[in-house]
Amino acid sequence: MKKKVLLVEDTATIRQMYKGKLLLEQFEVLTADHGGEALQILARERPDLILLDLMLPVVDGFKVLQVVKTDPRLQEVPVIVFSAKGQPEEIEKAMKLGATDFLIKSVSKPKDVVDKIKKVLAETTVKGSAPAYRVAIQEEGLDIQSLFRDFAVARCPRCGGRQVLELVPDFTQASPWFSAHFVCHSCLPAAPSRAS
Ligand SMILES: [Zn+2]
Repeated sequence: MKKKVLLVEDTATIRQMYKGKLLLEQFEVLTADHGGEALQILARERPDLILLDLMLPVVDGFKVLQVVKTDPRLQEVPVIVFSAKGQPEEIEKAMKLGATDFLIKSVSKPKDVVDKIKKVLAETTVKGSAPAYRVAIQEEGLDIQSLFRDFAVARCPRCGGRQVLELVPDFTQASPWFSAHFVCHSCLPAAPSRAS
């Protein structure tokens, strides 16, 4: 499951540098070179994260941030803003408008940007409604018999029904990675709803 990042940056060389790095890191990347284009993309797409330069021509980053944070469809999308030189008033204004975090453009290397994106995505996923997947164990092979015997998880202690394995993704890992536990599909409420 690739995470989709919208990169809004008016300087072509910087945009290309970050885009290249993000693609290498297995992100899906959408780019906009000004605020108006970012809003057009956001009208049809819901990225997992937005990387937003504040100083943009025509429609600036503050305006884009304001639109995102007041749109119910987009307001949960984390936004990391680029401050050109890290002026405190600029950062304070962006954080007040709902930015999740910031990067200072003049001192951030592509690796710093990727590290920050991963950190923010991991935190957002933990905070938000993480998806979960309930799967039934159909086969009797491999270590299933010993697993059921050692942990007594095959049958629900309350209703005696078959238990299913609930898998919860851990987005802090690079490869698909899950934590898992057994639940009874009949007794327990439905799995947490998937983020749309
Ligand atoms: Zn049960």
